[in-house]
Amino acid sequence: ERAEAALERSRRNVLRSPAAEVSGASLMMELDRAIENDELVMFYQPKFHVRRQQVTCAEALIRWRHPERGMIPPGDFIAAAEEADLIDRLTLWTIRRVIADQARFREAGHDLRLFVNLSGQLLADTAFIEQACEMITGSDATLGFEVTETSVIRDPVSAIANLQKFADIGIRIAIDDYGAGLSSLAYLKQLPASELKIDKLFVTQLTSSNRDPLIVRSTIDLAHALEMEVVAEGVESHAALALLTVMGCDMVQGFLISRPVASEALIEFLDDESRQQAAAHDARNPLNRLV
Ligand code: C2E
Ligand code: MG
Ligand code: MG
Ligand code: MG
Repeated sequence: ERAEAALERSRRNVLRSPAAEVSGASLMMELDRAIENDELVMFYQPKFHVRRQQVTCAEALIRWRHPERGMIPPGDFIAAAEEADLIDRLTLWTIRRVIADQARFREAGHDLRLFVNLSGQLLADTAFIEQACEMITGSDATLGFEVTETSVIRDPVSAIANLQKFADIGIRIAIDDYGAGLSSLAYLKQLPASELKIDKLFVTQLTSSNRDPLIVRSTIDLAHALEMEVVAEGVESHAALALLTVMGCDMVQGFLISRPVASEALIEFLDDESRQQAAAHDARNPLNRLV
């Protein structure tokens, strides 16, 4: 009955917006199968720590490698998966995949905390919370979850309690897309979050806008006052990186560092980074300059 209602809703969505073709009911049945058939793929986008000058974390971003339609971006199916009540299964699949990928990254010598994006409705889904916690505590994974404030505002009491459960088992909570949705300082101060991600809306034109630098600087100061680390998303230029560095931004993420890439490509990226750091280290060491 619930599935019927979801299908009806997605049918109506299709009628309402021609661009939503991809969220049609038949595609949702395909997504259901895709979860089983390993058509879903995780890409990873590094988060670069400015003071340490190295990648310390990465964000997992899902893609659907559809047999006929090719690579479908998450913006084209996540909302429909939420509507069709497939998001819990999809996210549990994601967490399982990310735990396995982290083990592979570690074998290759790269120990990164990996962040998974959580849809708001999962923050009130007790069955999901239990299964996710069980899966994570039964592994030796080091994870983080990214959630938006908009998703907390739906049902703040249970969202905050459940985020605390995650934090208690060592999962870092990051507030995603900060400044772009519904924001409330009353919730911000209660969230057990250790990281705040400034939305790319304020970052991509940072050096050509009058207001964006003011907003970004005051957000960095606010987050630091609340003892959170700040990540700037959407860093695309050296000029933006330089300004964010002066402003005391802790981490940057964006096309300047790397686009989201498949796991093998992330390992290559990290191997390159390690080689470059070793070379820079050797060049600084006076003993090595002598020989
Ligand atoms: P998000 O979590 O805010 O992810 C950042 C998005 O910005 C990604 O798009 C990324 O490719 C893009 N991006 C990164 N750097 C830059 C940059 O320098 N410039 C610009 N213009 N864009 C940049 P993507 O991968 O298409 O993901 C879109 C959204 O889909 C994500 O936004 C997230 O909300 C959602 N999403 C992705 N994977 C999952 C998932 O596994 N579960 C859930 N629930 N949502 C997901
Ligand atoms: Mg369910
Ligand atoms: Mg995110
Ligand atoms: Mg974001």
